Amino acid sequence: MKLDGIRALVVGMEKSGRASADFLRSRHASVTTTDIRAVEARGFRLQTDELFTDDWNLIVLSPGVPADLPALEKARERGINVIGEIELAAQFLQGRTIGITGSNGKTTTTSLVGHILAFAGVPAQVGGNIGTPVIAMTERSRDDQWNVLELSSFQLETARTFHAYVGVCLNVTQNHLDRHHTMENYTAAKANLFRMQLPGSYAVLNAGDAACRSFAELTVAQKAWFSKGDIRKGQIWLDDDTPLMPLSEIPIPGPHNAENVLAAAHVARIAGVPVEAIAAAVQTFKAVEHRLEFTAAIAGVRYYNDSKATSVDAAMKAIDSFDGRLWVILGGKDKGSDYTVMREKLGDKAHAVLLIGSAADKIARQLEGAVRLIQCGTLDRAVLEARTNAHPGDTVLLAPACASFDQFQSYEQRGQVFKQVVKELKNAAA
Ligand code: ADP
Repeated sequence: MKLDGIRALVVGMEKSGRASADFLRSRHASVTTTDIRAVEARGFRLQTDELFTDDWNLIVLSPGVPADLPALEKARERGINVIGEIELAAQFLQGRTIGITGSNGKTTTTSLVGHILAFAGVPAQVGGNIGTPVIAMTERSRDDQWNVLELSSFQLETARTFHAYVGVCLNVTQNHLDRHHTMENYTAAKANLFRMQLPGSYAVLNAGDAACRSFAELTVAQKAWFSKGDIRKGQIWLDDDTPLMPLSEIPIPGPHNAENVLAAAHVARIAGVPVEAIAAAVQTFKAVEHRLEFTAAIAGVRYYNDSKATSVDAAMKAIDSFDGRLWVILGGKDKGSDYTVMREKLGDKAHAVLLIGSAADKIARQLEGAVRLIQCGTLDRAVLEARTNAHPGDTVLLAPACASFDQFQSYEQRGQVFKQVVKELKNAAA
């Protein structure tokens, strides 16, 4: 792709847009940047329909920008090349690429793959939806090195020629319908990862997921299947003859994480890592921050931070990851969720639910009678309340099932506050 001297417009000025603009400038393109939130002082123009139909040679979309905007359709009709950041990166990325997508588990699985390759001494760089934008990985990419990419449906939506040597899909469940409109569109975006693969490549797919099975039909790649069924007799199995490791040696809890380990192990095996080294690497993996992250043990009580569990579904997964004796911190900003589906699980597994944030009253109404409820208001009070009540062998779990924005800037900040309060309690106990 020729960039020298072309007129390029970059749309969406978050991390990946800024990286795309930097990249294009480094290749001597004349670059204009735009965003719906124009900040003149930061040097980019307000995004208007007219701007799109100017005489651009290339328009590069950030993953956050809907690719089906009517003004973009018009630009395409006028022959302007409209591509996503991933597609631009694909033209310049050296080395073989591992693309990991799915509705849930992307970050964990991508980090696992990065960790296993690093452990085994296989040269690799990790990025995409996690951390460094793919376009910013191009300069450092090398022929003899792997690119491990977390890819969202938004990034895949505009992929046209991007080829993954290993494509991975963990699962496809309802998500982001505000952007993709229908489940078909959302699934089709993820399917791009597999449709574009070349002969000789690999697809690692969840056999228990209908969308993943449909991807198998449209890829020429060799398939490596994993599923819940590979978790049996206390072990996880890469195939009928190859046990990977005992479940008890996987440091991240829950059956969903065992699936993530399976997917990552298949990828690592394709990248040439011996099975024993994969198992040894997994044993030393630390949970990604805020995802069922073990925080501390104080007086025999274990504390876990799953601040990323911002939906009821994710919170249920977190609860499923423990045998019981839980003190679960729930609440935050409600997303119109139905919490009654948690009644039975909480009744079985929790001593009590500690309620925080603006959703507390709604959650209390919906859980009334199923489990003991303690109104705490704030996260620090919830942790203190748990500390006062919990007994050795219990677990305190932050898995709020809500967004954080009523009391925090982000789920990350909520998780930080949790960890800080727990740390102070630990210091006080020592
Ligand atoms: P993503 O990057 O796709 O959002 P994460 O690895 O950050 O995924 O995990 C987010 C949440 O999704 C976790 O806290 C957990 O509740 C849930 N989750 C993780 N892996 C899986 C999986 N394989 N299947 C279902 N849910 C999962």
